[in-house]
Amino acid sequence: MKILAVSDQVVERIYTLIPQGHFKGVEMVLGCGDLPYNYLEYFVSMLNVPMFYVPGNHDPVYNLMFANSYAEGGTNLDLKRARSKGLLLAGFGGCVRYRPDGVNQYTQTEAYFRAFHLMSCLFWNLLRYGRALDILITHSPPFGIHDEETQAHTGLKAINWILRWARPRYHFHGHTHFYRRNLVPSVTQLGPTTITNVFPYDLIEI
Ligand SMILES: [Zn+2]
Repeated sequence: MKILAVSDQVVERIYTLIPQGHFKGVEMVLGCGDLPYNYLEYFVSMLNVPMFYVPGNHDPVYNLMFANSYAEGGTNLDLKRARSKGLLLAGFGGCVRYRPDGVNQYTQTEAYFRAFHLMSCLFWNLLRYGRALDILITHSPPFGIHDEETQAHTGLKAINWILRWARPRYHFHGHTHFYRRNLVPSVTQLGPTTITNVFPYDLIEI
């Protein structure tokens, strides 16, 4: 099954690649944050496949009353679980807090509370399907993996906690491409989980 993951940067080339059939066969689109919602909506309308996403720190706070705060036709997976095409998915939006007034930003402690909430939802997957999760999408990287020491790009420890507990097969995240794309690998294996730093898009066969 082919999955297209996108994050952090609009690729203008996409607008010619998709009509040319470049992404033919893609069965799901995953958005890892910091992308305009009309960009995500373009994938939905052109590929006509399920699209799941989480908000990044440059995205507006979700509010059903404001059309520009969510992507039409997609599912905001922040702290939610979903099941699609036999896969168990969950999401965790935002990144570490680096500005007091920033949106979709959390202290490490706040992130632990959010993770606890998500994991309590995933517990039902364990009971029902015998596994907690197949794919985790987040905006932030985990702590110590694909992150860096600057205040804005430190990973969230709560994501490591989710990975250790839920043991998904895949984790896709964004947020940290700007400085280290060429210095660190964009794919890391952690136990059963393949962690991919998505930038600006990745086609993955799973
Ligand atoms: Zn970001």
